[in-house]
Amino acid sequence: MIDKVIPYGRQNITQEDINVVIAAIQSDYLTQGPKILEFEKAFAEYVGSTFAVAVSNGTAALHLCALALDVKEGDKVITTPITFAASANCVRYCGGEVVFADIDPDSYLLDINKVRVLLEASPKGTYKGIIPVDFAGRAVDLEAYRKLADQYGLWIIEDACHAPGGFFSDSTEEAQNCGNSNFADLAIFSFHPVKHIACGEGGMITTNDEILYKKLLALRTHGITKNEDDYTNSVDFANAIATESTIYPAWYMEMQTLGFNYRLTDFQAALGLSQLQRAAEGIEKRRKIATTYEKTFKGKSFIKGQSGIVEGHAYHLYVIEVDDRLGLYNYLRGNKIFAQIHYIPCHLMPYYKQFGWKEGDMPNAETYYRNCLSLPMYPTLTVEEQKFVIDKIEEYYKK
Ligand SMILES: *Cc1c(COP(=O)(O)O)cnc(C)c1O
Repeated sequence: MIDKVIPYGRQNITQEDINVVIAAIQSDYLTQGPKILEFEKAFAEYVGSTFAVAVSNGTAALHLCALALDVKEGDKVITTPITFAASANCVRYCGGEVVFADIDPDSYLLDINKVRVLLEASPKGTYKGIIPVDFAGRAVDLEAYRKLADQYGLWIIEDACHAPGGFFSDSTEEAQNCGNSNFADLAIFSFHPVKHIACGEGGMITTNDEILYKKLLALRTHGITKNEDDYTNSVDFANAIATESTIYPAWYMEMQTLGFNYRLTDFQAALGLSQLQRAAEGIEKRRKIATTYEKTFKGKSFIKGQSGIVEGHAYHLYVIEVDDRLGLYNYLRGNKIFAQIHYIPCHLMPYYKQFGWKEGDMPNAETYYRNCLSLPMYPTLTVEEQKFVIDKIEEYYKK
């Protein structure tokens, strides 16, 4: 008998995590300290990108990416309706227009063929960028997206919130890590507690583009630079006195663009760094849990959406499609199993409906929404707990 709540996802905090956070809050820096750069370096190495910029959350990461890519009033950007709203909202923060394209009903990912149809139907220059999402942890084939984007001069932001540690195999069979930015211009991650790596709140942007990297660093902290080479005001102005010197005073800095305070704190970075050490282990555990679900549900008529274990899948979520989803959801809830729905299609949120999106626009996403359910999936889910979840599902459909 299991009598505690089993959520769909949760963080895994160890004594080591607690120790490093205590040490960080006892140090000289609560924010803007050495742990930020350490976390950025380690994270860049983990995903295989050149640069990483730690920010206050995944939504801030998306906002800064849209700003760095210069999204402006009226710019059209394509994304998937089956994602967390932030993937689309970042375009709106900059006054751009979100254009949804339907998902592939088998992978649940943004369907590249639907994107191609959109692009072909308008004159070149109509669209500015694409935001594909590694939904549930399944890696998007970004090589294919890069090819398409290049034909139309588009940028790509990979929303990899679900997929740190995930990868896809490119056309030469080489593994391409989510967020390595070999194909996307920028990639973003979230460190919300349900994601693979938890900071409480937190996010990361990865890129291989030095110009974008520098823009992001400035945008993260009010658009302020302390790099002398970039200063535009004169040395005399900076010193507030006419001087023979060519040296800027130590207090000097310049706000050159309109930025934000989207910084991560040092103790959050310390926690993220500690969590990162166990990230690969966490994915192994997630794959084990996914394998058990796959084996159990294979051939069961009431469960659909079993694709077999997908190579490189980071299994942030384990999604099934079922008939009578509401009934199953409530039955599980009655047994303190808090399965969840990911996601209510973004284009049908009242906010997006005001732009003309309506039911029927994205048939695959809407059918998916009718049947989908995310089952408990997190590294500390025990064998006994998973068995309890499976037993309750089978029990429900026996009735
Ligand atoms: C969690 C998430 C975000 C936003 O991240 P926050 O850290 O919660 O702001 C964006 N996109 C996707 C796909 C997510 O799952």
